[in-house]
Amino acid sequence: MINKSQFPILNQTINGKPLVYLDNAATTQKPQLVIDAICNYYQTINANVHRGVHQLSEQATQAYEGARHKVAKFIHAYSDKECIFTRGTTESINLVADAFVLPRLKAGDEVLITHLEHHSNIVPWQLACQKAGATLKAAAINQKGEVELESFKNLISEKTKFIALNHVSNALGTINPVKEMIAIAKSHDIPVLIDGAQATPHVAIDVQDLGCDFYAFSGHKMYGLTGIGVLWGKAALLENMRPYQGGGDLILHVSIESSQFAPLPNKFEAGTPNIAGSIGLGAAIDSLLQVGYETINKIENELLNYATECFQALPGFTIIGTAEHKSSVLSFVHQHIHPHDLGTILDAEGVAVRSGHHCAMPVMDFFDVPATTRASFSYYNTREDIDALMNGLQKALEVFN
Ligand code: PLP
Repeated sequence: MINKSQFPILNQTINGKPLVYLDNAATTQKPQLVIDAICNYYQTINANVHRGVHQLSEQATQAYEGARHKVAKFIHAYSDKECIFTRGTTESINLVADAFVLPRLKAGDEVLITHLEHHSNIVPWQLACQKAGATLKAAAINQKGEVELESFKNLISEKTKFIALNHVSNALGTINPVKEMIAIAKSHDIPVLIDGAQATPHVAIDVQDLGCDFYAFSGHKMYGLTGIGVLWGKAALLENMRPYQGGGDLILHVSIESSQFAPLPNKFEAGTPNIAGSIGLGAAIDSLLQVGYETINKIENELLNYATECFQALPGFTIIGTAEHKSSVLSFVHQHIHPHDLGTILDAEGVAVRSGHHCAMPVMDFFDVPATTRASFSYYNTREDIDALMNGLQKALEVFN
């Protein structure tokens, strides 16, 4: 069983206190398994992929394509070629906005998102809408931080050309009913992208069962490296899209006048890819599956329930985001203490949390707060970590009293 002891970085002190890492929604720490996979790649088979006939290049290509195969199985893609390696969720969403949505968008059309999105799933649509003269609409949320399904349904019309939804909210932890929302979109024949950045570490993904058209996620949120992510898309759609970037690796033939593009997935992977990152992502998938989502959910739900319960004893605090279906995020504010002060006091206690708008300013605006403090849990966290968080918050109360 993979646990805290297999994450070398967690075995250290910060400000003289044992590190308690509760910033997992920003990025997760890496198990030895992932670190070893990357070291092994650089120590034994480092070479560029797809081009060489020498042995190292063949081995590197095999490892790179092997990682793609793991990704495809992990999300239940129809085939490996539907899984495009990108720099992360942000690039995956921009790819779809630029290469799929923009060429199909006309003045007067609409793109629909929700009020719960990360900026990565807002700004690319704003840019596409601005270029096309289209309008971006957002479904409302309620006081618990859940998307109002009636608002979502009411905003769909014949003008709606694309829908992009987050699976799990990074700011509040809300798990959205994406399968139901995709079914609603599909009843209107509207293509849907799911931003799965916060879902893959906590929720088993089956893109076939979900019924979406595109699914985007990042390696570093799920125990892999930064700078690597995936765009999954239905082959029929990807095949009809123009390349997102030009360069080497994505072509069959180039003359000065024109180029003939390679088949999927290479058409969307211009230039030398992040080979080590892809291999690391494959190892991160291995590590997640080794623990298993059942165990992950059990541990993380217990931690969330325990932390939520402990919070009741702390005066002056309010939890922001109390959705019925929630993953392991606890966002909170205090009536007098600024979130950044809370973050600084916790840091002095060795507790790493995030204070800010979490790249979800519309969520902050809705709750009328400039920022929250966010503790986000992983399966490697323990009840003792929650106790350290609570002790740190008690200290903050003492300091500010
Ligand atoms: N979407 C959500 C819900 C996120 O939480 C994040 C990152 O925090 C992103 C998108 C962007 O991910 P990345 O920065 O890895 O591209």
